[in-house]
Amino acid sequence: MLSNLLNFSGGPGALPPSVLDQTQRAISALPDTGISILGMSHRSSWFKALLQEAQDNIRGFLGVPERYHILFLQGGSSLQFSMIPMNFAAAPKAPAEFVASGYWSRKAIGEAAAVTPARIVWDGADSGYRRLPAWSTLERSAESPFLHYISNETVEGLQFRDAPSDIGVPLIADMSSDFLSRRFDINDYAMVYAHAQKNLGPAGVTLTLIDDAMLSRIPAGLPPMLDYRTHVEHGSNYNTPPVFSIYVLNLVSRWLRDEIGGVDAMEAINRRKAQTLYQALERHAGMTEIHADPAARSAMNVAFRFRDPVLHDVFLTEAHAAGFSGLEGHRSIGGLRASLYNAVSEQAVQQLAGLIDDFARRHG
Ligand SMILES: *Cc1c(COP(=O)(O)O)cnc(C)c1O
Repeated sequence: MLSNLLNFSGGPGALPPSVLDQTQRAISALPDTGISILGMSHRSSWFKALLQEAQDNIRGFLGVPERYHILFLQGGSSLQFSMIPMNFAAAPKAPAEFVASGYWSRKAIGEAAAVTPARIVWDGADSGYRRLPAWSTLERSAESPFLHYISNETVEGLQFRDAPSDIGVPLIADMSSDFLSRRFDINDYAMVYAHAQKNLGPAGVTLTLIDDAMLSRIPAGLPPMLDYRTHVEHGSNYNTPPVFSIYVLNLVSRWLRDEIGGVDAMEAINRRKAQTLYQALERHAGMTEIHADPAARSAMNVAFRFRDPVLHDVFLTEAHAAGFSGLEGHRSIGGLRASLYNAVSEQAVQQLAGLIDDFARRHG
């Protein structure tokens, strides 16, 4: 039997047990309305209050100023790969600029290039996407409509330590796999986006935080669903929003606030989790290889492999028998990956480190 507490999946990620309990009850009937969450009207005052609370919680965690619109959109982070250039690079004087740091940034670039000219300002392909650039070394154009990067490369396990500052063009970040895992300064960004299914809730909703100043750049004539202004004007309630996903996302935000104690407390826990696992892998460096260079290692996704490929399947079989799941690496690079999203407990990570120690003793 697999254990839900030992789910290290890359996405959808694990959710806190208390959130799953409340969700189960809400499917039968919400305690405060008597109606199932699956049948709640998106036009009800109850749902409007829910949207407001979810926004307030996110503003509170990160100190997000009122000038940022917080939207709850559908289509996943992948739709943002197209919407961003459609809205913000319609008639650019220079190409939109991108950092190519791994699998997801390559995807974002490929999809943007179907909409607008795109230029890669740094490409980690030479290193097999094992390292990240220093922001000061990038050669960028001041005419570019925006610079896009991915704060945490989910597949390769690479995470930027900080944001570039004062870059002179709007900065846009995909934070799908590390949003609310650590503190950052939203004022550095014109836009940040993150789908829910890694750190924030179930699939079906994507958070976007957009500086109001960006809206004046949107061209006329976009299809309404693809125009950020439609969703701003209708308060994320233009067509039927994913009520259920937003409900669970809000439960996760309450959990983060009340059970964890906010983003700084979460960040401290996440640091300890990552340290526990990286140290276990380093203890057995003769047997295992971590994909990322030390300076670029992600606290959210730990990609590694056994140097002896025979051990790969043996490890997965033993892990599975012990209740662990989600440890297979992404199909694009193979190997193994442990995702340490917010809802993965310290205890679960200690158990995984213990499994690795034990495995190394028996097979080393
Ligand atoms: C998983 C992931 C995506 C893809 O998101 P979808 O919601 O499936 O479209 C995009 N960006 C990053 C950084 C991811 O980790």
